[in-house]
Amino acid sequence: MFDIQKIRNDFPILSRTVNGKPLVYFDNGATAQKPKAVIDTLTHYYTYQNSNIHRGVHTLSREITTAYEEARKTIQLHINAKQPGEIIFTRGTTESINLVAHCFGKLNVSEGDEILITQMEHHSNIVPWQQLCEERKAVLKYVPINEEGELKLDQIPLLLSNKTKLVAFTHISNTLGTINPVKEIIQTIRSHSCAAVLIDGAQAVPHLKPDVQELDCDFYAFSGHKLFGPTGVGILYAKSEWLSKFGPYQTGGGTIKTVSMEKTEFAEGPLKFEAGTPHIEGGIGLAAAINYVNAIGFVDIQKHEENLMHYATKRLTEIGHIRIYGSSKHKTSVIAFNVIGAHPFDVGTLLDKYGIAIRSGHHCTQPLCQFYNIPGTIRASFAFYNTIEEIDLFIEALKKSIRFLL
Ligand code: PLP
Repeated sequence: MFDIQKIRNDFPILSRTVNGKPLVYFDNGATAQKPKAVIDTLTHYYTYQNSNIHRGVHTLSREITTAYEEARKTIQLHINAKQPGEIIFTRGTTESINLVAHCFGKLNVSEGDEILITQMEHHSNIVPWQQLCEERKAVLKYVPINEEGELKLDQIPLLLSNKTKLVAFTHISNTLGTINPVKEIIQTIRSHSCAAVLIDGAQAVPHLKPDVQELDCDFYAFSGHKLFGPTGVGILYAKSEWLSKFGPYQTGGGTIKTVSMEKTEFAEGPLKFEAGTPHIEGGIGLAAAINYVNAIGFVDIQKHEENLMHYATKRLTEIGHIRIYGSSKHKTSVIAFNVIGAHPFDVGTLLDKYGIAIRSGHHCTQPLCQFYNIPGTIRASFAFYNTIEEIDLFIEALKKSIRFLL
């Protein structure tokens, strides 16, 4: 049963106050809060398990190596990858995308080739491709969006050609909440080109359980910290055929099989891409987060978040002076809006006085803001631990802020 009070008790930070008011945390799109299960895993690691992995024969090292590789398996099963060897630990979505841009670009992209992205991407899924295209004299194209904040799907076949080497797009828009029809898009890509497909899953994993085999993507990237896990750890899923073709990303300890003064033979599988001592506690903490959300269940999570989103949208619309951006039929619990006549930073600063944490700005999607011709938005993004009562507090604070500003 979905017991919201029990769930909230699992997140110690939710009981703190901010500016003398109970914290209302609606900035989950930026980073999610951590349940005790994750905090305890980190404390346990530093209290009883701290040791380096893969290289030690002593008990502590063997124990934590097993725990770290178990974490890799937990993540594999969670996203239904074929094998744990397709799961690479990175620092986060940004690094996962950079890894693919580097390794794929070196192997597969040359002058005149094309990379296709979309107009709704986070800067982390734009800039690495811009840099790669500049370096390789390749061409970067993008799928435009419509006023509702949906991709213009009919444009995709027209933008694909035999020059398209890779298509990279987001599963869920971090600004608009639009859930892209990933499977359908991948089918279109497959039937019109030989391009590889990278999905930016940063905003999807807190709301749904991706099935990478069912989607048939080549790469799927996400961050631990948005999935209720630690910061500084992320995942790149890559089909094993790519990993065996890719050269290393960064090199050094951990990536090698043998090193002589003349040359290096690299390790196979994910280790080739995990240079240096990894974020060990991050990996096991992320597995703890995944076990935690799976125990609640994504069916209940989605039902609750949908209620929050519909309720908040209705209440916001009733206020007046509000413009909401993004009205896709397939939308997750993210609402981007502006108070007409007020700057998003001013609204955000006033809401903070009432203990409400929302995000204001361009949310690292400047091309999207350019499409709507705005400097940015206010973004309220909900997680499964948020409540209807918190939305009421937010609406009351917003009304007071509007009265002050206009
Ligand atoms: N992609 C999307 C859609 C995001 O929302 C974010 C972060 O907000 C990122 C990528 C970058 O994630 P990170 O900063 O964890 O690497």
